[in-house]
Amino acid sequence: MFRFVLVWMVFISGLWGVTIDKKVPILCYHRFGTEVVDSMTIKTSAFSEQMEWLKTNGYTVIPLDTAAAYLEGKVKAIPAKSVVITVDDGHKSVYTDLAPIVRKYKIPVTLFIYPSAISNAKYAMTWDQLHELESTKLFHVESHTYWHPNFKHEKKNLSPEEYAKFVDKQLGGAKKKLEEKMGHPIKYLAWVFGIYDDALLVDAKKAGYEMAFTIDRRHAASSANIMAEGRYMVISKHTIKDFEHMVDGSEDRMPKDKKEVIAY
Ligand SMILES: [Zn+2]
Repeated sequence: MFRFVLVWMVFISGLWGVTIDKKVPILCYHRFGTEVVDSMTIKTSAFSEQMEWLKTNGYTVIPLDTAAAYLEGKVKAIPAKSVVITVDDGHKSVYTDLAPIVRKYKIPVTLFIYPSAISNAKYAMTWDQLHELESTKLFHVESHTYWHPNFKHEKKNLSPEEYAKFVDKQLGGAKKKLEEKMGHPIKYLAWVFGIYDDALLVDAKKAGYEMAFTIDRRHAASSANIMAEGRYMVISKHTIKDFEHMVDGSEDRMPKDKKEVIAY
């Protein structure tokens, strides 16, 4: 009898291993400030409230790299209530407003950066600031293409040859530039404006990215295309209840036509 139960348990756990869809909620932020100046700017007090809620409710903020390894089966387990924080665009308020809160809560944050803006655009951080943030071991830089283009527009306006060259610069070129500047491998990509198509997913893989992220509002999942993993963009109108529904999976389980669509 015991033997039978044992065999049965092994069988069931084997079955479990192949059928389970591993999921992690990944949040996507942009800018921070003491006041809300636009929808993409999150009040620092609201962000602190969200981090406090995560802590109180037993969530662990894990590095994107750990989540990716888990989804790919390279890491066996992560805390049951795990969440990933990413911030796109490299806005200077990441340095001035977000970093102090990140240091306080000691949470890992991935920054998706497009190199053309860094130490160049007024609104962006400098390379020195990015290095300083990475030296805390809490921040980590990954790729958000070379200059944040709209792939749809470019595909329409460029010849096929020009477009191929352009895509190579935005994907492979950005990876190379960021690796030179930051001195570590760049493994992940965040699609600009959440725009991607089947060809781009193949191109991203060819350019050497291990995983890529959209702003499609769903959990990142082992069952999804790893070049188009979901993320939840958090904007200023979201309440703490909305935030809870992103991380606890309620929004993920919502029927598609009921889900919020956020215009970028
Ligand atoms: Zn962006």
